[in-house]
Order: sequence, then structure tokens, then C-alpha cells
Amino acid sequence: MVPFLDLKKINSQYSAELKNAVNRVIDSGWYIQGEECEAFEKEFTKYCGTQYAVGVANGLDALILIIRAYKELGLMQSGDEIIVPANTYIASILAISENDLIPVLVEPDISTYNINPDLIEKKITSKTKAIMPVHLYGQIVAMEKINTIAEKYGLKVIEDSAQAHGAVYNGKKAGNLGDASGFSFYPGKNLGAMGDAGAITTNDSELAEVVRALANYGSHEKYINNYQGINSRLDEMQAAILRVKLKYLDVELTNRRYVADNYTQDIENRHVILPIEKNVSANQLIDHVWHLYVIRTKKRLELQQYLSGYSIQTLSHYPTPPHKQLAYRQLNQISLPITEKIHNEVLSLPISPMLNESDLRFIIEKINAFK
Ligand SMILES: *Cc1c(COP(=O)(O)O)cnc(C)c1O
Repeated sequence: MVPFLDLKKINSQYSAELKNAVNRVIDSGWYIQGEECEAFEKEFTKYCGTQYAVGVANGLDALILIIRAYKELGLMQSGDEIIVPANTYIASILAISENDLIPVLVEPDISTYNINPDLIEKKITSKTKAIMPVHLYGQIVAMEKINTIAEKYGLKVIEDSAQAHGAVYNGKKAGNLGDASGFSFYPGKNLGAMGDAGAITTNDSELAEVVRALANYGSHEKYINNYQGINSRLDEMQAAILRVKLKYLDVELTNRRYVADNYTQDIENRHVILPIEKNVSANQLIDHVWHLYVIRTKKRLELQQYLSGYSIQTLSHYPTPPHKQLAYRQLNQISLPITEKIHNEVLSLPISPMLNESDLRFIIEKINAFK
């Protein structure tokens, strides 16, 4: 059996260290808002190159709290619009509608699957307040174009970096390419906890302070509540686990790249379109940390069943676009042909950093033999 992602195998590499970390928390007698969270925030700040990181309960909350903080700061209000790629994971869009703002869906570039910057300007209205680029599958969005448009129209840039920990663009990492960024540490993400966890990164001290308060009942100081906040904190156990996992993130990214490079070099099948890494210009390399290795094929169901016959597990990210979900029934009628085509054709191949050489060769051989 070649699983899509073998979390047990990944985490068991660090078993002794992880157990130590968990024991340290148990023995400390302190489980929320303590030294581990503070230390992780510092380490993650250093890793991303930002001035601030705020640990929260999950990636969706990270995005929700950024927008909520901009509302508290008077920079956004209910009914305002945020531009977001139509083919993202639904959480990006939920963060906008949860705040009573309006998600304005923009089609992706069919070659990168990321938001097409050339389609953004015509969607901007007097109500537009932000652009939310999503570094989908681990590939950085063409941020120079996004930031230029944002500057021209006075918009905030909120990165959804949930799939792109460690990806570099023009010398800066995901999470340090806009005004604020949301990260998820869901177990299956490139940096994964052992439960739910997330973080916000930013260089804006005021924003960092407000999100920190909002995530803690709206309180900067015990029993003083400046906002009607929520409870969304990164607990000590997950923070301690993430401190261990963060040390090995770059090694895991290298292993993911090895798998991806081999797929790209060696898969050859006329039914299959491989993902590309796009060079915008010589000094603007778009980095890809291969959270997912996504191919496209008109024979998705056949290929998936064929591979499953060889015990190779594949998944589809994602089978139904957000605008076709019941949750957004008011959007069901709009036509987004590129997004719909992508959702009909994408298939994600196994991409574990622990995928061994013989399984990798086996997957490539079977895909190449598919008729
Ligand atoms: C996983 C993910 C999220 C949400 O993160 P959770 O920690 O699961 O809440 C948001 N956006 C994208 C693109 C994601 O992949």
C-alpha cells in the first residue's frame, strides 16, 4: 500500500523528541498561554522573517481574526469586499463571509492554479478592501503583481499561507509577503501539529496586538476586555510539538521537492498534465514547497481507480469548488469555467517526505503505463 501521506511514519521519526516535549508540558503544570507558545511564536517569527507571530487555534481562525482585527481597527466594515481565488480551499472564503464581508471570486491561472493577477483589477470596486492571495498546493502567488495592485488601490494583502510554510519569493518567505498572513498547522500540512493549530504572522504591531486580544476574549490584560473577542489560542501541547516539527521542516521540504522533481522528470503520459513551477523573470523565482503534487487529467476517475488497483492512494484537491457548494448557494449560478475545469480534472499524487525510492519508481512506472 502506498498511502497518500503517511503521518504516522513522518511523526515517528521524531518520536523520542515529541514525547519529551509532551512530557515537558505535562510536568510543567501550565497548559495555556505559557512558555511553549511564546517560544514557538519566537521561533516561527524567526523562520518566516516577520516581526510578529501569534499562535491561534487553527488556520481558519487565523484568517478570520486578521479580518476581524481590521474591522476593529476601522479599516473594514460589514459589506466590504475581499478578492480571493475561486479555486481555493473553502476556508479562505469562509474567513471572509464569517466576518460579514463579501468574497469576490477571481479565476486562477490554469498553468499555476494560483489567482490570475491580470483578472483582479476589473473586480475592484469602491467596497474592495483587501486581496487574499492563496499559495495553493505550496506554490507562491506572483506577489509582486498583487502588491502593486494593492498599493495602487490602497488595499490590504492577506496571505493564506496554510499550504506554503517555508516557500520563498524574492528572498522572503510566505507569511512575510503581504500585510498579514494566516497559517494552518493541521496535521497534514507541511508543518503539522497533532491536533488543530494555527498562527498569524505580520510586521504590523497594532494588528498583532489586536489579533492577540481578539483570540483571547478580546482581552490584552486579564479581566480587561476591549473587544468582543473569541477563544482561539494555541495550547502548550501543540506549541511544544510544533517546536520539534519546525526544526525539521526544511529537511522535509527538501524531501518533498525530491519526490516532486522525480515525478516531473519521469512521468510521461499523454493523458496527464504535470504541474509547473513558473519563472516570472530571472530574479523572481516562484517557489513551490509541494504541499500537494497535483496533476490534471480528463480521465481522473479511471486513473484514480487504476492506481488504486495497485494500492496507490490518490486524492482530489478539491472535487467541488466553493461556489458550487450548498454553503454558498447564492453563488451556485455564477460561471467560473477555469475553476470548474480544474476541479473536474485534478488528482493529487502521494507526496510524503518519507516516500521511499521503490514506491516512487513504482508510482511513476504505473502512471506511465496507464492507457
Ligand atoms: C487548511 C487550510 C486552511 C484552514 O486551516 P485549518 O487549520 O484546517 O483551519 C485555510 N486555507 C487553506 C488554503 C488551507 O489549505
